[in-house]
Amino acid sequence: MLVMDNRYAPGMRKWNLRFGLTSRCNIRCRYCLPAGKQPVITQPSFEEAVEVLQAAHDLGFRRVHYTGGEPTVRRDFVDILRAAKDIGYSQQIVTTNGYRLHRFLPEAVEAGLTRAIISIDTLDEQKNLFITRSHFHSDTLKSIESAVELLPTMTKISCVTMRDTLDELPAFIEYAQGLNSRGWPGKLAIKLNQFFPSNPAQLTDEGDQFWKDQFVEEDVILEALAKAGELKPIARESIEGDNPSYNYFEVGDSGVKVAVLAMFSWGYPCGGCWKLRISPQGLATICISQKDPPVLWGMGLDEKRETFKRLTGYRDSPQFDIDFPDRRHYRPQLGELRFDKVAGSARQIVFFEDILTRDKTVPVVQESACGSNGCASAPVPSPPAD
Ligand code: SF4
Repeated sequence: MLVMDNRYAPGMRKWNLRFGLTSRCNIRCRYCLPAGKQPVITQPSFEEAVEVLQAAHDLGFRRVHYTGGEPTVRRDFVDILRAAKDIGYSQQIVTTNGYRLHRFLPEAVEAGLTRAIISIDTLDEQKNLFITRSHFHSDTLKSIESAVELLPTMTKISCVTMRDTLDELPAFIEYAQGLNSRGWPGKLAIKLNQFFPSNPAQLTDEGDQFWKDQFVEEDVILEALAKAGELKPIARESIEGDNPSYNYFEVGDSGVKVAVLAMFSWGYPCGGCWKLRISPQGLATICISQKDPPVLWGMGLDEKRETFKRLTGYRDSPQFDIDFPDRRHYRPQLGELRFDKVAGSARQIVFFEDILTRDKTVPVVQESACGSNGCASAPVPSPPAD
């Protein structure tokens, strides 16, 4: 039976802590990081990380979602889980590429991990090698299967949709259906994330070309998915860890739940999230549109707590909507919140629209990408990841 634990302190039901534990990643997906060594690696010390968890817990947070970079490259990842469990977190979630997770999953579960979101864009090993430039496909599959077997919750595959892998969507549904029929405690659901630009890879010519070759609009994604069965819309609350930005479906009679995010096609609307994001470099934000976020590293516990109180209070107040009436979920370079500073200038949405339309004789204007303020270069901001 799936366990849905929603114990929160009064007033904090909607808030989640999203914690980037390191900017380091052990792979280089073509849509994400350029090939080669990462120039800068930043991450909090174990003690700083525990203080963040303590300060947020003191305010009522009970759910923490670890991201990176790749959080499992930290050797003390399980120690952090255990510390969070001792502090009192009832939900601990990790987004991972699955390279390492299966090696220590039983220990991680014992230490307090409650759910996993595992990235995999293709079921084809050779395509995976091309996309990620790394050999670890079987590790990711092992991590997915171990998670469904050991975690009595909804494990999710997180899949970036690309032109060259769209025809695999029925195979993904079949794969999930197969795992869900094994009688294991957990279930597998699928998140389809439209390829969105604003990562460090998109500051290179290779990244631009990959975007042009692989980006597909929402209708193309849905059409490919529908080849697996009728898409029956379902309430997002029926998916554990539901994200307000996604659309949710059950596919045919498979029983498999799929969440679809097509931010680029939709013009990056604000989904109204309530996340306190902590980046590996210590930036604390309550919205990706936030300017000049405070830096936590070096602050004491009390100062961290006061900072979180101020930020969450601001997000809870009417002033936030007054200050950001036309906010969008786009930040030219989103990568800065995940991988630290990246070289090159930030690019607005219109730049990526231009790449898509460059070779066409009739220019295509995607009005939705301009938002209600009619300006794609508005100093607004940024995206999701789960
Ligand atoms: S713009 Fe994005 S980060 Fe900001 S409140 Fe909306 S969904 Fe959340």
